[in-house]
Amino acid sequence: MYRWVSISRLQKKQLVSSFSNTATHHQKPNLPSPPPIRVSLTESAGRGVFATRRIEAGQLIHTAKPLLTHPSLSTPNSVCYFCLRRITANSSPHQLLFCSQDCKHNSKIFYDVESRADWSAFHDYCRSQGLKYPLLAKRLACMIISGAASADFIDILQPESLSSEMISQMDEGFGLLRNAFTKADITDEQMTYRLYQLSLTLQVLSRQWYASVLSRFRINAFRIELAGGLYEELLSLAAASIEAEIAVGNAVYMLPSFYNHDCDPNTHIVWIENADARLKALRDVEEGEELRICYIDVSMGRDARQALLAQGFGFRCNCPRCLSGD
Ligand SMILES: [Zn+2]
Ligand SMILES: [Zn+2]
Repeated sequence: MYRWVSISRLQKKQLVSSFSNTATHHQKPNLPSPPPIRVSLTESAGRGVFATRRIEAGQLIHTAKPLLTHPSLSTPNSVCYFCLRRITANSSPHQLLFCSQDCKHNSKIFYDVESRADWSAFHDYCRSQGLKYPLLAKRLACMIISGAASADFIDILQPESLSSEMISQMDEGFGLLRNAFTKADITDEQMTYRLYQLSLTLQVLSRQWYASVLSRFRINAFRIELAGGLYEELLSLAAASIEAEIAVGNAVYMLPSFYNHDCDPNTHIVWIENADARLKALRDVEEGEELRICYIDVSMGRDARQALLAQGFGFRCNCPRCLSGD
């Protein structure tokens, strides 16, 4: 069941960097030991993440770098194109895209592809229909066209099964995405090779590819809300509207996607300053115990949770809290 062999080079690099403590352990003996987790099959919910030793409440279990990100279109202030860090209002306008030279450098190759196309129609479509997963598909397409990711980059993630009706609802988005690429400005000489790649890639980026990646984003993408936002910004958001969009964007991860759901979870994910995920224990966890996160708002009532999990994630929750009727 573990298709680790299909992990692309970039994913490997990211997996290693998310486990960088492990990689440098022998050089810096004072660093923490490897993450106390293993991924294995559960009795009923496919694969899951298990504790390999006792973990105390509040402990950081591991961190994870995103495989891909996309900023929210309605974020009140600018966030970094790559890591979703908030960019302060006093940055000059031309620095509004990236929080740092590192982020600029790390996304240069696919940002270059993205910036050649006119995304206004595609963004209007996403904005007017409140869609976020097509944006992740756009980012992934740019990564594939630029060579930053392989075509099977996120195949390791579990897909949601889609009805043919759901797939035909995606046609408009797919048409707009493809249209943006085919009309992309590729007058630059350096883009000649990219154009060749693009013509090859467009054969890969089919309607079927689009449905396949959306089916994975639908159940694996995380909505990123930063806990370490600027205080003044939080105040102005609260004053502006209680409906204000507080998510800075969406992101997809590998390891965090292997965590199963529980309405009374023992683990949670926090984002402090950017899309780097931190998995923390909410209570003491025994060795061998499965680590679970809550996919939805824990404060909702049982019926609302059941409906949302069935609709959004396609399963009926049988966790102890649901079974107790709470
Ligand atoms: Zn950044
Ligand atoms: Zn439940």
